[in-house]
Amino acid sequence: MSKPLHILKYGSHSEQRHFMENLDAYDQVLISGSTAAYFQAGMSVFLAKLKNAHPAQRVLLAIDPQTPAFQDIAAGADLSGTDQDNDDISSTWRVKPSLASLADVYGGIVHDCVESCDPLTPEQVSEDLDSMCDNVLRFQVAHLDDALKATEDYKYLKYAQLDTVIPAVLLAPYFFMAPDSVDEWLETNLHVIQTCIDIAKTRYSGFDLAAVLAIGPDTLGDPTELKTVIDGYSELGVEQLFVWFDDFDETTAINEQLEGLCKLLTKLVTGTHPKRIINLFGGYFSTLLCHQDIGLLAGVCHGPGYGEYRSVFPVGGGIPYPKFYIPQFHNRFIFREGLRAVTSLVRDEAGKFSRQHYLDEVCSCDTCQSVVSDPNPSAGFLRYGQTKRSIGRDGIVRMFPTAEASLISTRHYLQTKHLEFQILNGKTLPEHVEDLRSAYLFGKTTLGTNRVKYLDRWASIIQHQFLSGNQD
Ligand SMILES: [Zn+2]
Repeated sequence: MSKPLHILKYGSHSEQRHFMENLDAYDQVLISGSTAAYFQAGMSVFLAKLKNAHPAQRVLLAIDPQTPAFQDIAAGADLSGTDQDNDDISSTWRVKPSLASLADVYGGIVHDCVESCDPLTPEQVSEDLDSMCDNVLRFQVAHLDDALKATEDYKYLKYAQLDTVIPAVLLAPYFFMAPDSVDEWLETNLHVIQTCIDIAKTRYSGFDLAAVLAIGPDTLGDPTELKTVIDGYSELGVEQLFVWFDDFDETTAINEQLEGLCKLLTKLVTGTHPKRIINLFGGYFSTLLCHQDIGLLAGVCHGPGYGEYRSVFPVGGGIPYPKFYIPQFHNRFIFREGLRAVTSLVRDEAGKFSRQHYLDEVCSCDTCQSVVSDPNPSAGFLRYGQTKRSIGRDGIVRMFPTAEASLISTRHYLQTKHLEFQILNGKTLPEHVEDLRSAYLFGKTTLGTNRVKYLDRWASIIQHQFLSGNQD
């Protein structure tokens, strides 16, 4: 099996530098449809330049069509223009401009639903199947590429042979199936994918087509609902499938959900129409499922500012705390917790913070090599946790990470994640299980069992599902 794909999700323009400065740390890029629609020209030029800079060249993997955003239109509302003295608040309620712009490009029922501020229903989708599917696929094929050709930079880009921005794979529209209501959307989703397969054969034959399956973690933990999903999707004639588990944090997931995840992937990978599956938002447990002796995932995507789990519906960002990704725990911790775990690993015989111990025991990525430097490595490490006082939009004073702390923490995170993918197949599964167990025992004594129990849980599931012959 080839090396697992490490995919980065482009979230906001402030992240552009992370993509450009860490070219070796990821394989491909995923962007959201609303970003492509709203920042059409800027994104097309950025992606063309990124393609030229990136060693793998064809860097844009896919554009997420973001169709679930129109199922729950209220989640994408923007109240920033709301006049609180206005008696009729509904007159100022509006869909976020980026989503409205995506709806304009899609046209038809999607445009109508944004105009009326009403959610899209399965019945509407079923009535407008062909034109909606074609609009969504055509958008992915042509929207950025057309924008690039219309930019002033195009003649220079063409000269440099950077004259196309097309995704490696087209994603069929998809709709989120909430827990306990899988049957509401399942049939519609399957019809949408079949329609896209038919359309792609004639109109987009040069492209690979993938389906997206979006369900909640509760469905993973519910054997009856999960079986319904498996039965529906395993029959689909697509070779590639992207999965998105709504807001699914693998570190807090319960056993039944993680086992359900393994079961779902096993059935879809080994069924009558075997699929190559990519997790749109996943953490280290998903990375382990890419291991050559497991082979349930072909790749994992996450955002550069962490983003290892994400809600299917667009929501605003939370309050940023300085956080540090601890490589041994494969998870990000609030800096003071990170400090507690790290300092217990890096003391030399005299009890002092040692740079060499840090590089040997914690992390030796390029960023840590330069940040945790002599003569005062401990002060260097503290740069990851630097904060500044700032007044939030709600008027409350909080401590926010400084720009430098965010920058170096993100670099360290991306380089560490890259290494996880690089060395994944260099160890056997029993060795990975052993690593997880020893990290758990260490974490238990530094951060407490509640904070790191997921490591033990992951180890047990890998052991039980893939090493003890219990793959039912
Ligand atoms: Zn590092």
